Amino acid sequence: MSFSIKFWGVRGSLPSSPPPSAWVNHIEGVLQNFFNSGHHSAHQVSEYIRGLQEPAVGGYGSATTCVELNCGNSQIIIDGGSGIRSISERILNGTAVRKKGPYHIFMTHFHWDHVIGLPFFVPHFIPGEEIHYYAVQSELEHLIRGLFKKPYFPVPFEALQARIHFHVLEPRKPVQVGEFKVTPYQLDHPDPCWGFKVEADGKAYAHCVDTEGTRVTQDDLGDDLPLYQNIDLMYFDAQYTLPELAEKANWGHSAAQVGLEIAFREGIKQVLFAHHDPGARTDHVLELRRQTMEYYSSVAKASSENNEEMPPVIWDFAHEGLEIIL
Ligand SMILES: [Zn+2]
Ligand SMILES: [Zn+2]
Repeated sequence: MSFSIKFWGVRGSLPSSPPPSAWVNHIEGVLQNFFNSGHHSAHQVSEYIRGLQEPAVGGYGSATTCVELNCGNSQIIIDGGSGIRSISERILNGTAVRKKGPYHIFMTHFHWDHVIGLPFFVPHFIPGEEIHYYAVQSELEHLIRGLFKKPYFPVPFEALQARIHFHVLEPRKPVQVGEFKVTPYQLDHPDPCWGFKVEADGKAYAHCVDTEGTRVTQDDLGDDLPLYQNIDLMYFDAQYTLPELAEKANWGHSAAQVGLEIAFREGIKQVLFAHHDPGARTDHVLELRRQTMEYYSSVAKASSENNEEMPPVIWDFAHEGLEIIL
């Protein structure tokens, strides 16, 4: 049995891909680098391209938040951003990990970028299918019903063919779905938003998008501190640079350096940063990555100068389609 996590959407706020003109410039840059690095023939192309990091060639993706977790025969999905369409496509063409339900969808909150894909999740329209929705927000059923409403969407909720169940969660109280123990903890985001600690097979995943990370110290985090403790992989909001974070106080999003501070203190093994700004092209996310590397190196250098032990943290910026096996 293995605990796997697939990121079907890593954008924030709005699905967004760089425009064609930006892709033209990007491809021109990749081709120039190919020749500038001494390559000259077509049979070297594949090796060169495959040797680069996937986002450096293909970008970070356009779809908004949707994460699929599998362990043994158990599956849960967190959020229904436009990335959930990829799971739908795989159900239709028979390549999905779970080809038939029941499906278990946990909702962090109901901002557009986290719900926009739900009306396009095909099991809703299949007789005999079963979908379970979970959220802390007591208006869960009302909010999901509201997504299937004319004139915004042609099929009203009452006409859906699947059996749909709603489960309102208690804050900080775990629920068991197959192999998964899922516990909601509050994040720092308007309206409000609940992250999830997901435990299975002796491993733990912390879903911390969307959050501003205004509470960083253990005292400030209080009852929500366990979300960050004994974690193998944390998925953390890093929409902004540090200066942008200062300018955009109370917008509900954070910076990679804030996530790293929590990871250093709590001994989190691996961190993936996400909720990339809809306006952030590949170069911008790569620049955020460079700034984060600078920060990580400076903390590591300071620790070694002070003879302090700093647990290594594996980190990167998530891209659409990335899969991690814990
Ligand atoms: Zn969001
Ligand atoms: Zn949000």
